[in-house]
Amino acid sequence: MAATPTTPRTFPYIWTTWLPRILTGENSCEWAIWFKAHHQGWTRQPSDFDQTQWLLDHTAMLNEQKAQWETKGQEVRVERQNSFRLRGRTATLAGQPDLIVERSNDALIIDVKSGQEQPWHTVQVMIYQWALPKASPRYQHARLAGEVVYRDRIKRVPRGALPGQFIEQLGSTIRRIAADTPPKRVPSPQECRFCDISAADCPERMDNELAFDDANTDDF
Ligand code: SF4
Repeated sequence: MAATPTTPRTFPYIWTTWLPRILTGENSCEWAIWFKAHHQGWTRQPSDFDQTQWLLDHTAMLNEQKAQWETKGQEVRVERQNSFRLRGRTATLAGQPDLIVERSNDALIIDVKSGQEQPWHTVQVMIYQWALPKASPRYQHARLAGEVVYRDRIKRVPRGALPGQFIEQLGSTIRRIAADTPPKRVPSPQECRFCDISAADCPERMDNELAFDDANTDDF
């Protein structure tokens, strides 16, 4: 079957999960997100990451959480029921929280993580807290708290106003990614190794280089 050609989008489209690593400084290559936001039909770099096992683990944890809340008599909405698209002047922001537990006038956003705890997980929930009341009439007046659920612990994200600095940073990051002019690529073996953009679209991709400069000294 012939590969789908990479084609430009008419309006940038940004998936929420692309943003937290950039916002926390875990990733530096904004070009990767810029490219994905401005194009569709691009070919993904094959990965040795076990996607099937990840999906099985994630779904099992998600179902467990859903059952726990439903046992307490709470209304729980799951994944696609939570899909949103928030159209700004420069881009559309899309997302899909794993679970939302609804109560009378508040709601709890839950994101389930089967891997190690990472700082950007909290940021992902904070973006949902910011975007959902704007994107969905259902949550327009809801007080939204958040939780990141790991196998062995729960990290709580309090409800209430998000720091103004966070909203400014989020807005400026989205505007940079939505701009017509691409940011510079920031290739590094550590980051390219986990990037899903292939060398066909990113000629600066670094797959085989040493992950860091390696030398000896007698100075210490
Ligand atoms: S392959 Fe490397 S340089 Fe290219 S977009 Fe991905 S992270 Fe950036």
